Amino acid sequence: MNLNKKSFIIIILVLLIGSVGLIYKVARLINHSEINNSEINNINALNEKKTPKVNSEDEKSTPKQTIELGIDDSSKIEKKVVEVVPIFHVHNSKIPILMYHSISYEKGNTARIPKEKFKEQMKYLKDNKYTTLTVDELYSYMQTGKLVPIKPIVITFDDGYKDNYTNAYPILKEFGLKATVFVITNTIDTEKNYLTSNEIRSMDSNNMRIASHTTAHEQLDKISYSDNVKTMTASKAKLEKILGRNINYFAYPYGVNNDSTRKAAKESGYKLAFSTQYGWIDKDDNIYSLGRIFVSSNLNLEQFKAKLNPKK
Ligand SMILES: [Zn+2]
Repeated sequence: MNLNKKSFIIIILVLLIGSVGLIYKVARLINHSEINNSEINNINALNEKKTPKVNSEDEKSTPKQTIELGIDDSSKIEKKVVEVVPIFHVHNSKIPILMYHSISYEKGNTARIPKEKFKEQMKYLKDNKYTTLTVDELYSYMQTGKLVPIKPIVITFDDGYKDNYTNAYPILKEFGLKATVFVITNTIDTEKNYLTSNEIRSMDSNNMRIASHTTAHEQLDKISYSDNVKTMTASKAKLEKILGRNINYFAYPYGVNNDSTRKAAKESGYKLAFSTQYGWIDKDDNIYSLGRIFVSSNLNLEQFKAKLNPKK
């Protein structure tokens, strides 16, 4: 065998080994992508299984699991059965945002809900496994489409009445529900029917989060754009000083919500702004024009329940 023949055979051998290696790699890649595809299919199948109906009145549509807590299964010690509600729901669900004002008594004023009626409504939410979201959680959903708990709901109060602290707060605490209060900041520590700084601090650190509702409840379409920004930024700054954290959410007084007020809310540094327009929240909604559901004192419990369902 001469040198040229030897070289030729060596080259052929090298090419053959290379080809085998390449074929092996390609085969692995194909196999890997099949694994990924089957993982995705499994996840999709799981998601489909986990998808309950939104806000359905039908209890059977809410899958339930239970876990048992006990020191030792073999012992005769009584076990505590804890119901665990599946926490996550796929997105694209509509979220109701309830809008309250005052929890007190005034005949003929639909914005003042008697304490007993408010308690009955909150008990209904608790007993029927609604999950109250903070506005931060709502924001995260709006931004990312992140999964939210089943039966999500947001509870809001406008104006910052003292009875939100004396009447609503103890009821919300009793049922473990979260809420948000939009406060008119000029009233803080100055008007007796409105919240004080201490009350605001106490509520804010206990799931009744504080947000802004301007400094003086201005009708925003009756004042200049720069005054819009002024009342929005000043109220934000005041609450930030009281609470020592960022204030990111705003509710338009009288629900005045147009291109100019939306722009001002954004320019003032708010992440979400709420109107009084009737509606449920969808993740594709304008984040500076979020509708809410006014809860009138005229509603009986059946009518309240109907309000929680966007189909009705
Ligand atoms: Zn208001």
